[in-house]
Amino acid sequence: MDLTDRAEHGAFRGEVRQFLDQNKHLAPDVSSFTLRMRPRKLSEDVRDWQGLLVDRGLTSRTIPKAYGGFGAEPDILKSRIIADEFFAADTVQGLRNMSISMLVPTMLEHGTEAQKQRYIEPSIRSQLVWCQGYSEPNAGSDLASLQTAATEDGDDFIINGQKIWTSGAHVADMMFCLVRTEPDAPKHEGISYIVFPMDTPGIEVRPLMNMTGAPAFNEVFFTDVRVPQANVVGQRGQGWQVANSTLKHERGLLGDANRSLDSLLRVGKLLQNESLDGRPLIENPLFRDRYIRLQARTQAMRLHEMRLISDSVKGKPRSLGDMVVKLLGCELNHQLDGLGVDILGEIGVLYDESSMLRDGGAWQANFMFDLGLIIGGGTAQIQKNIISERGLGMPREPKVAEPKVAGA
Ligand SMILES: Cc1cc2nc3c(=O)[nH]c(=O)nc-3n(C[C@H](O)[C@H](O)[C@H](O)COP(=O)(O)OP(=O)(O)OC[C@H]3O[C@@H](n4cnc5c(N)ncnc54)[C@H](O)[C@@H]3O)c2cc1C
Repeated sequence: MDLTDRAEHGAFRGEVRQFLDQNKHLAPDVSSFTLRMRPRKLSEDVRDWQGLLVDRGLTSRTIPKAYGGFGAEPDILKSRIIADEFFAADTVQGLRNMSISMLVPTMLEHGTEAQKQRYIEPSIRSQLVWCQGYSEPNAGSDLASLQTAATEDGDDFIINGQKIWTSGAHVADMMFCLVRTEPDAPKHEGISYIVFPMDTPGIEVRPLMNMTGAPAFNEVFFTDVRVPQANVVGQRGQGWQVANSTLKHERGLLGDANRSLDSLLRVGKLLQNESLDGRPLIENPLFRDRYIRLQARTQAMRLHEMRLISDSVKGKPRSLGDMVVKLLGCELNHQLDGLGVDILGEIGVLYDESSMLRDGGAWQANFMFDLGLIIGGGTAQIQKNIISERGLGMPREPKVAEPKVAGA
């Protein structure tokens, strides 16, 4: 991909600046930096801002016009310019979350025309908020062991079972969910990917507290939940392939290099603003050294991500590169938050109500929340297993023997 900043990019930068000059006052006074660990119902001003950004092609740029997007060709530099200018103007950018960054691309790849027409536009405008019903008490890393059952009843399925760690289920309008529709098929083949509203009778959501003190994820129980069979995305019984499509996008979302760059720039500001013995911390060699190392890693992740986008634009088959994004990007984000906490010194251990908090306590909360993202979406250990076995050709780990059944 040609990364030269061409004349059209200069003009585009001017357009983004002009948009911000004219509309910045409409932006909600919240930052994704402080929001991401506390899912809550989106307020009207957040939805309105998101809608305006969609209309102007400043988010969801490449979603086809037929489904309510802007229909632009992918252009990494333009995406970068948007991110840079919004950061410089200290203005909240288009949302990136499970609905927009995971469900929408999966729908585009696997949904029927009717499903795309129905779900994509309200999702990119954040009028529909989704949650992900994958994990179960006995199906996490070994996700294909999931047992939530969907049995046929006329044109519907009746769903019974339980999900766990379902982020944002308490504020979501819809769930994309993995259920077992063919109990006798081999475990990867009997799964279907199905979507339904969270207010369908028979769904009970029980919040779980995470270590930031926020109820960010939940247990979700299904008792005779009736869902039309037409809500299956992709082929019935082939939900594993659809689920993997969502997971691929999830890995990109969680390890996103734009997010790391955003944190890096914030750490840089913090280093300039905070001081030790009357001198700004940016002059302290220990902190500067840590910062430069993380800066180099952030840059490496950005270039890696650009290469992956470039490959995908050229239609090259996907490599294991997105696993590297998830593994190293999440670890990098955690280290950036950790540097932020250390820069703050004794203020970095304050929490919640203190008037001394910097950035609303986001450094501390993100440090704890980002540790969770090293687990969510597939743990670091599992990413390492897959990269080493499928990418580096190392020997497969031995399978645990099935317990012998007495008398067998
Ligand atoms: C912040 C957060 C948000 C989440 N949000 C969602 C959500 O919205 N929807 C959803 O469906 N799920 C969600 N999850 C669940 C997440 O996907 C699972 O936690 C994850 O897949 C791990 O599964 P588990 O918790 O059952 O751990 P287990 O699979 O039981 O693993 C326990 C430990 O054993 C290790 N381990 C397991 N198998 C192997 C192996 N073969 N080799 C080496 N090590 C191994 C793991 O790495 C881990 O350290 C979320 C989790 C977190 C932390």
